[in-house]
Amino acid sequence: MTGLSDLYQEILLEHNSKPRNFRELEEATQSAEGYNPLCGDKITVYLSVANGTIADVGFQGSGCAISRASASMMTQSVKGQTLVEAENVFDAFHRMMTEPGADLDHDLLGDLESLSGVVEFPIRIKCAVLAWHTLRAALDGQGDTVTTE
Ligand code: ZN
Repeated sequence: MTGLSDLYQEILLEHNSKPRNFRELEEATQSAEGYNPLCGDKITVYLSVANGTIADVGFQGSGCAISRASASMMTQSVKGQTLVEAENVFDAFHRMMTEPGADLDHDLLGDLESLSGVVEFPIRIKCAVLAWHTLRAALDGQGDTVTTE
């Protein structure tokens, strides 16, 4: 499995050095802030939702490589998805992070699977899930800015 973890490492590093959708959305309909005090990761997620679809998504913030790579992959996987589809990805990711050894939905997860090894490091799980909980807060916020702690 060494080859696989090398590949995962590479995907993580690549998303960390070149995060996707790393920008504030001028036309955001919803946003939320997230903070992981255990590591100091901070993130703001911006969404532009129209007709039940995430038309655009962006994020800003500072944090460790895992939080940043996870946020980058999160934006990549939910952009253009319906709210229901995004919820399915959230569930698949959450399951991967909380149920070691669970069957993974490769189609839904894509690059996100490179974070599967994080489940072995409980303290880093919060880094990996931060962007996702912030996404959910933004979706629930309906335009308000919500701070999660
Ligand atoms: Zn972190």
